[in-house]
Amino acid sequence: MKIFTGISVYPGIVIGKALLYQEDDYSEIPRYTIGQEQVEGELKRFVDAVKDTVEDLQILKESSREMNLEQSAIFNAHLLMAEDPDFHYQIKARLESKYENVEWIVWEVARDLCQKLLMSSDAYLREKAADVSDVSRRIISFLLGVQRFSLANLAEDVVLVSRNLLLSDILTMNKTRIKALVMDLGSRTSHTAIFIRTFGIPSVLGLSNAVREINSGDTLIVDGEKGELILDPDETALERYRRKLAEYSHDSDKLSALSRLPAETKDHHRVVLRANIELPEEAGDLERCGAEGIGLYRSEFLFMGSGKAAEEERQYLAYSQVIKTMKGKPVTIRTVDVGGDKILPGLPRNDEINPLLGWRAIRFSLALPEMFKTQLRAILRASTEGPVKIMFPMISGIEELEQALAVLEEAKAECRRKGQPYSDNIEVGTMIEIPAAVVTADILAEKSDFLSIGTNDLVQYTLAVDRGNERVSYLAQPTHPAVLRFIKQTIDAAHHRGIKAVMCGEFAGDPKAAALLLGMGLDEFSMAAISLPQIKNIIRGVNMADCKALALKALACTSFKQVDALVESWMAEHFGS
Ligand code: PEP
Ligand code: MG
Repeated sequence: MKIFTGISVYPGIVIGKALLYQEDDYSEIPRYTIGQEQVEGELKRFVDAVKDTVEDLQILKESSREMNLEQSAIFNAHLLMAEDPDFHYQIKARLESKYENVEWIVWEVARDLCQKLLMSSDAYLREKAADVSDVSRRIISFLLGVQRFSLANLAEDVVLVSRNLLLSDILTMNKTRIKALVMDLGSRTSHTAIFIRTFGIPSVLGLSNAVREINSGDTLIVDGEKGELILDPDETALERYRRKLAEYSHDSDKLSALSRLPAETKDHHRVVLRANIELPEEAGDLERCGAEGIGLYRSEFLFMGSGKAAEEERQYLAYSQVIKTMKGKPVTIRTVDVGGDKILPGLPRNDEINPLLGWRAIRFSLALPEMFKTQLRAILRASTEGPVKIMFPMISGIEELEQALAVLEEAKAECRRKGQPYSDNIEVGTMIEIPAAVVTADILAEKSDFLSIGTNDLVQYTLAVDRGNERVSYLAQPTHPAVLRFIKQTIDAAHHRGIKAVMCGEFAGDPKAAALLLGMGLDEFSMAAISLPQIKNIIRGVNMADCKALALKALACTSFKQVDALVESWMAEHFGS
């Protein structure tokens, strides 16, 4: 038995048989010398293979568009890559200097390009390596005349194991047969991860070198909660996970029955539970989980992978689709939060030493007012389809909020000039993610319809812990007294001004936080849809008076360990262990 740790991308536990999908195995590519007179013929073979590849990509693009996947635009990037003159020039130049068969040359050129991209300090360029490898593999398959093993035709349930799955594979694979997915590469924000979440496949990515130790048919346990993969589990591990699985399905049956019941404590204190989404397609599933709307739509994912900023019409359609799907339940659209590790293709970017303290979120939007206004116009126009709220990310002070509100007014004026109707009932909220915003929450609340606490960033900036750095992740504790006091301060500032206090960071979906946040007076919780039933179950099992007492005690604690111990024993007392 061997345990590997990676990054959890979608939760869930699966015990199953491995299917090794080793697209990276190039040992089959022949390598031989050619004569000078064969260069022309090899080039022609290359051009024909590119033609076939382009046709293939066009079909994939169309079929993913039919599936209504915004990211079908990624195939545009692949098409551009397949026809890139510089790529073609490099193939020709190498053929003419090395006199080797063209499939080998294509592989070498792509490998060199990938290595260069992978060594870049820029996350966007590193992710481009996957595109280069996807397209070159496609061309090589045509050159070799091999039928690529298709994940669309799977006869049995599998745990898919791959070093680096291609996007085209993910879009076309048989999702009902693939029970879980594990990969050596991949990060939480990679395109692959985004699709995995959309399709709801329990997955662990970023396993480094696990795949080389796995063979097809091996027994695997994928623990999407912990981000762990167990190869050849022993009887004890199997038994433990079988038990967990049984509890899981029993719990999920019980929990899904909760979806129609209100999020109300035993003493009838009602709160609102909403979902966080990244892609428009996710909205379709929310009713089943009992979400009372969307509390955070991370709109930046609409911009990524398209090769350019999403134009107004595309945005308008995406927002309208989400709003219509939600059938009258509010949709909170957060304006783009890029920068840091989320870089928009085709837009200016800086090589910053401290990207997380740099040109991010609202700073980025305010610096590109036309782009910002385009997004706001698209949201305004879509607001005729149903209730919409707008939320600004990473506000650090009143000046930024006022500037953002001014751009919103300009966007409204432009819509009016063009005769484009919009709702005059759009709430505008401020995200509280920076200590300065907490400390001035009373001032920000004056100009906001609600405050929404983003604990992921609030923890990062309060405790000076890079949220993506696993070396310091032990410090990233949302129950740290500083964070808890900041949360309470924000909730109180909102209430003092008579507006709602919302939380849309991960802490809102953390079972250990639910009673504590209730007791602190939080009005709305927004979280990954998968967490909703469990949080609702906790809320329905407690009394507000007890939660208030718990919150008072927690706020008096001196360390996160004390808070965690307090909450743990409180939960055990109320719900059993
Ligand atoms: C947060 O910071 O808590 C948040 C919700 O925003 P994001 O995770 O997208 O930065
Ligand atoms: Mg944030």
